[in-house]
Amino acid sequence: MAKNNSKRKPYWVGCDLGGTKLLTTVFDADFKMVARIRTKHKSGIDVKDGAAYIGDSIEAVLGEAGTGIAQIEGIGMGVAGFLDLEQGMIVHAPNLGWRNLPVQHELQVRFGVPVSLINDVDAGTYAEYRLGSARGARCVVGVFPGTGIGGACIYEGRLIRGKMASAMEIGHLCVQPGGNLCGCGRYGCLESVASRLAIASQIAAAAYRNDTPALRKLTGTNLAKIRSGVIAAALREGDPVVDKIVRHAARQIGAAMVNPLHLLAPDMILLGGGLVEEMPELFVNEVDTVLRRLGAASFLKDLKVKAAALGDEAVVKGAAVFAADTVIKKS
Ligand SMILES: [Zn+2]
Repeated sequence: MAKNNSKRKPYWVGCDLGGTKLLTTVFDADFKMVARIRTKHKSGIDVKDGAAYIGDSIEAVLGEAGTGIAQIEGIGMGVAGFLDLEQGMIVHAPNLGWRNLPVQHELQVRFGVPVSLINDVDAGTYAEYRLGSARGARCVVGVFPGTGIGGACIYEGRLIRGKMASAMEIGHLCVQPGGNLCGCGRYGCLESVASRLAIASQIAAAAYRNDTPALRKLTGTNLAKIRSGVIAAALREGDPVVDKIVRHAARQIGAAMVNPLHLLAPDMILLGGGLVEEMPELFVNEVDTVLRRLGAASFLKDLKVKAAALGDEAVVKGAAVFAADTVIKKS
């Protein structure tokens, strides 16, 4: 660990470039957060200004932490988007409209410290493995249902990644061949039946039919407003149709997880993301119940299904810890 080596500098930077916001943080050597800055993306940031946008935010958070780049050992950058890990490039960040940003190189040139790049779901799962709910797991498979459904796997301490891109795209496991159209352009992906967007679409239709009295009072049929917190509130108010829709989606996730269960024999399946944060017991119970019904007994003996613990800090923390583990391993 960094703290045991007196030559190490005392701080790490972790960034989370999400679909709608940039979270930039400074951690000490024990990965306690020292400072954070959250910026909502303005519309129309050009890709040629992308690295400057992130870099300026890093400068600002260092100021906030009362430190300078000379005290930083490395920068970890978690990104919601498609990455080329060999080139250190953001290939496509759909919400920002960015393509082919050599972010690793540009930030390394600007700050003169190692920069590592990691997919945001990989970072979230890595943080839970190192510092959260999945500590000590031999093999943890993370599933994060949100607007889409992200997935990741840490196997005996190593993050499973492709040569260039991230791996474990659980949201795009085909669970209903010929089923609903998915955001990826294919049909029948898990994401198209069990993401927050899929759940909210079904709830909006039920609200339109006047089948969800509590939720209808909260949001009407406006799909964009049917977010995780509203869905959880409608459940607390006792909307039986909302309960049915959410539990059905959770069971679909459970059924899909039988495949990685039998492929990887994980000892932990970790559930996270906005929906799970709002309704941890519902998701953990439904996924666990379905897995125990459908999985082979020998794969279930040591399996635990748990909810993530680190909330919205998971990605920045995971990006920083992954940078630390990578930099320290290389040096
Ligand atoms: Zn898909």
